[in-house]
Amino acid sequence: MNWFYAHYEWVIGVVLVPIAVIFIKQWLGSSPKTEDKTVAQLQQENVELRKALDASEGKLRLRDSIEKRGTLFYKHSESDPICPVCWQRDERIVYLPPSYQWSGGIRRDCQVCHETSWEVPMRR
Ligand SMILES: [Zn+2]
Repeated sequence: MNWFYAHYEWVIGVVLVPIAVIFIKQWLGSSPKTEDKTVAQLQQENVELRKALDASEGKLRLRDSIEKRGTLFYKHSESDPICPVCWQRDERIVYLPPSYQWSGGIRRDCQVCHETSWEVPMRR
């Protein structure tokens, strides 16, 4: 015991502290919590990227599916026109209500943006 009292500073500084440092380093490095968090973050990021990719692909498919016939836009193989303003401004598919005659022309009024689309321009 006398030896310990004479050398305890050395024992603590040269033996116990380095051992403690090694254990703490290993505990931090292999802590399952840190690893789980990283994997979870990567998975979350992957989910978000996948969603963004799907949205982009969906938008591209949607753009490919729209065509202009005359003054109005239609989805392929459909005969109901969509509002050109809503489509070109917001890429929104808004079907136009039935047309009606107006001052010698034929018009449709969008129920969403309230813009008028002319299938046949009015005569002046
Ligand atoms: Zn509209």
